Amino acid sequence: AEAELIRAQRFESLAMLAGGLSHDLRNLLQPLLLAGDSLQDYQQDPRLARLGRLVRDCGKRGLDMVQSMLSFARGARRAEQVRVGALLDALALLLQGSVPRAVMLEMHADDTELTFDGNHTELQQCLLNLSLNAIQAMPDGGSLRIETTQAALQESFFASDEEAHAGNYLCLTVADAGMGMDEAVLQHLFEPFFTTKDTGTGLGLVSCKRIVTAHGGVMRVESTPGQGTRFHIYIPLLERSAEAVEQEEHFNLQGEA
Ligand code: ADP
Repeated sequence: AEAELIRAQRFESLAMLAGGLSHDLRNLLQPLLLAGDSLQDYQQDPRLARLGRLVRDCGKRGLDMVQSMLSFARGARRAEQVRVGALLDALALLLQGSVPRAVMLEMHADDTELTFDGNHTELQQCLLNLSLNAIQAMPDGGSLRIETTQAALQESFFASDEEAHAGNYLCLTVADAGMGMDEAVLQHLFEPFFTTKDTGTGLGLVSCKRIVTAHGGVMRVESTPGQGTRFHIYIPLLERSAEAVEQEEHFNLQGEA
């Protein structure tokens, strides 16, 4: 419990840092974006107009990054209807160009039309983080499999009573055939700044977990050194209330009559 607390505190300071930083950055980037915007319409000099577009595009990208950093800091998410098919399509698009030739990407959804309450952008970010980790774990190539299924989870599935919430879940799996992880790595996996990479930040999985937790979900990992890793994200699918089901049945009966 103490370790949990320390982790939570560390996490809060990180969120505060990210919040302050992104606020200041946003104030810097907004005028830059505006300047680029007006420069790109500069008819007299095409070179200046091109520079304007460049400034605007970079400013826009910076603002997007700042925006996601802000929502990370706030832990705030806009609830919307997320469709599994749309999530995978967006991910495929983002991964285009990042998948080396030696890596074979397979995607499979058991129900692309399944929709649930959540935040599309955040979950997409989550899947992207996991996929990029998976690719980095396979320097010599291999198969990257992204899969969605549904699972009815029993209370016994959950680690603690706090986490426990039996019911129907969407399961998003990102599986690689890469280097895998040993116990020492697995133990520290979700700690801020824990990384085994030269240029890693150690924030990818932390923000993933934060997003999944904000969705009321849980993350699980299975890994075998030298064989590969599977990350599972479980997102709760809301039950229809008994009342709603009853109304629907009533409606169907009337329709038949
Ligand atoms: P980063 O990728 O910047 O290191 P992450 O939080 O995403 O930060 O990951 C933390 C560490 O977890 C990585 O440095 C790596 O050691 C390990 N890891 C994550 N995903 C995988 C994977 N699919 N295969 C092997 N190791 C992984």
